[in-house]
Amino acid sequence: MLDSSRHFQTIDEVKRFVDRLAAHKMNVFHWHLTDGHGWRFESKKYPNLTQHGAWRIQPGYPEKGKTEKYGGFYTQEEMHDVVAYAKARGVTVVPEIDMPGHCYALVSSYPERGCLGIEQRVDYVYTYPADAQRFPTHPGTDVLCVGQDETVKMCKEILDEVLEIFPSKFIHIGGDEVQKKWWKGCKVCQAHKKKHGLKDEHELQSWFIKELDSYLTKKGRRMVGWDEILEGGLAKNATVMSWQGERGGIRAAKMGHDVVMSPQTYIYLDHGQSRMARS
Ligand SMILES: [Zn+2]
Repeated sequence: MLDSSRHFQTIDEVKRFVDRLAAHKMNVFHWHLTDGHGWRFESKKYPNLTQHGAWRIQPGYPEKGKTEKYGGFYTQEEMHDVVAYAKARGVTVVPEIDMPGHCYALVSSYPERGCLGIEQRVDYVYTYPADAQRFPTHPGTDVLCVGQDETVKMCKEILDEVLEIFPSKFIHIGGDEVQKKWWKGCKVCQAHKKKHGLKDEHELQSWFIKELDSYLTKKGRRMVGWDEILEGGLAKNATVMSWQGERGGIRAAKMGHDVVMSPQTYIYLDHGQSRMARS
């Protein structure tokens, strides 16, 4: 998995990453294309996602007199190119569009899609690992207002564009670290919860994920999400990536679901690998 949101890589760098995967006989490239810190997937339908959401003011830049914004995005043509490049090396690209949390960049580009409906900046991050800090770092919400029909429609329309570029069977929709407090304080989300007979915010998240699951299933694809999608009830055809440890993966497997074990403790290779690595 490569995170192109928190830090942006050029297409040449992405291809070099694919070369490394192939050299190690790894045949799946999980491409984390969107997050709070920058939206990297070009959508023709929602151009503001990249015109606005792909760029942020990096901490330290104004102090150093730098006026340019940090960021970038991949055009649809470039992503097609990466898919073909990977395919020629036996690698399948699985895109991740993270929803309904980790959506700072999206909500910043389309404020009406958040529960607050206010203007907010794209979030920023410090450099790893020395100044890593908890996300998000900017005031505002990084959670989508899932109670609005318009929000669900937008998510599906973005996925339509994703499916056209990425032929992979599996499509990752994120689903991790959703701060449900925003839904608790949102009239629209509360009304939606009531309408659908959902007992709490976990069930509201589950309702949203199930919408995406059945949408992708209808299109002949399979949905993957991080292990938080177990909360409030797991969608019928979902595959779970267990990042918070092994428990979620084991639970999902026992329920008969496919699982990708990715516990951060052992296999997040960007974490400090020893005490020395942090000094
Ligand atoms: Zn809401």
